[in-house]
Amino acid sequence: MTAADLARAYARRELSVREGVQSSLDRINEFDGQVGAFLKLAEDVGDQADRAQAMLDAGEGTPLTGVPVALKDNLSTRGLRTTCASKILSDYVPPFDATVVAKLKEQGAIILGKTNLDEFAMGTSTENSAYQLTHNPWDLARSPGGSSGGSAASVAAGFTPLSLGSDTGGSIRQPASLCGIVGFKPTYGRVSRYGLVAFGSSLDQIGPFGFNVEDTALMAEAISGHDPRDSTSLRHAPIDASSVRNGSLKGLRVAVPKEFFGDSMHAGLRAVVEQALDTMRKEGAILEEVSLPSIQYCVTTYYIIAPAEASSNLARFDGIRYGPRAEGSGHISVVERTRAEGFGHEVKARIMIGTYALSAGYYDAYYLRAQQVRGLMVQEFKSVFDKYDVVVGPTSPVPAFKIGELKNDPMALKLLDFCTIPANMLGCPAISINAGLTDGLPVGLHFMAPPLADERVLQVAYATEQALGATMRAPFP
Ligand code: GLN
Repeated sequence: MTAADLARAYARRELSVREGVQSSLDRINEFDGQVGAFLKLAEDVGDQADRAQAMLDAGEGTPLTGVPVALKDNLSTRGLRTTCASKILSDYVPPFDATVVAKLKEQGAIILGKTNLDEFAMGTSTENSAYQLTHNPWDLARSPGGSSGGSAASVAAGFTPLSLGSDTGGSIRQPASLCGIVGFKPTYGRVSRYGLVAFGSSLDQIGPFGFNVEDTALMAEAISGHDPRDSTSLRHAPIDASSVRNGSLKGLRVAVPKEFFGDSMHAGLRAVVEQALDTMRKEGAILEEVSLPSIQYCVTTYYIIAPAEASSNLARFDGIRYGPRAEGSGHISVVERTRAEGFGHEVKARIMIGTYALSAGYYDAYYLRAQQVRGLMVQEFKSVFDKYDVVVGPTSPVPAFKIGELKNDPMALKLLDFCTIPANMLGCPAISINAGLTDGLPVGLHFMAPPLADERVLQVAYATEQALGATMRAPFP
């Protein structure tokens, strides 16, 4: 069931919250052994269900009351272990809730558990988790994408109608694409990042996964709005989910950057994307090819800025303030050993790259330069958004790849991110919806709009989703 279906069933009293939640738990218990979406299940689900039922009975329900949700394990949950899929936080139990978690609880959503990710959200396949692999419900031999692979797999496998992820360079949209569902990255600052374990602070954004655009928009509304505890939070009203059906493709001005359709694009996936663009044209959208040359630099720019910010953000994990502490003689040796034992390979590599890029003598050559290219990219996209309502392209140049296939080619894996990174550089809203299948694997279609045009991106995605009719359930189990 979708979240909207579930809410209707609760309202008609066809189902109690306990029954709704139990069917999610039953499915997880039966099948998550094969998928590996969850790192930890909450223990107070029964109490949460009773509170939600009381809200509904008192006529105080919201669209999410009684709806089971899964949270990426880099979102702080009071009393519920939060590991970031890292050994360095293996026993960390936060004393507070992230703002998005507090909001979900207030609205009566049921927090079912915490999902797997690439360690500290660094990756594109969820293979960098220190704990387990996550399998794509469309083909268990394949990756669900990453870094929010567990949250995407949870929705695709029908464990929860909704989940939350975080997106620094594509970590919501790319796994949504590989798992055939919807993933939305709101405008930077429209959803509070308080309680999200920071990776690249100028790029990070929390956002929802759902089976369709309507559900995804409900979750976006529920978590958005100004928060004084995040200094980058915008003084702006929450995202308005009620407006998603108002959009139309008729007369919509759509830019199609040719740089998103490069040689690295999988042929079958290209065909599905081009067919989707044709459908948009038939519905009255005006599509035009544009060129945004800075796209070719986005991956290299990202891999300076994100590691630089990560190297600073991850300095706090020293074994003194959080997580397990290694044995050592004196402060420096304790910190060194804790970090040597606690962080995995990819995280260490990024801390080293970031520290190098920020160090005296290299700062101007790398970090400053990367920020300048980022400025150029913002300018280029701005000139396109002056003429067009949205930018469209594939979410990922390839469908789901086999687990292990790219493990020894980290460069190839990083190069897959060029369609999603620009939205993080710009801080603009972006969404991935399913456009169809190639060889039985889902293909994501990606829309971007200018900052604060979150409602527009949702409306266009909704109208396109209706025109394509390509929402589909994974053939799982
Ligand atoms: N794949 C990108 C990376 O490895 C993006 C990750 C993310 O968005 N968290 O950094």
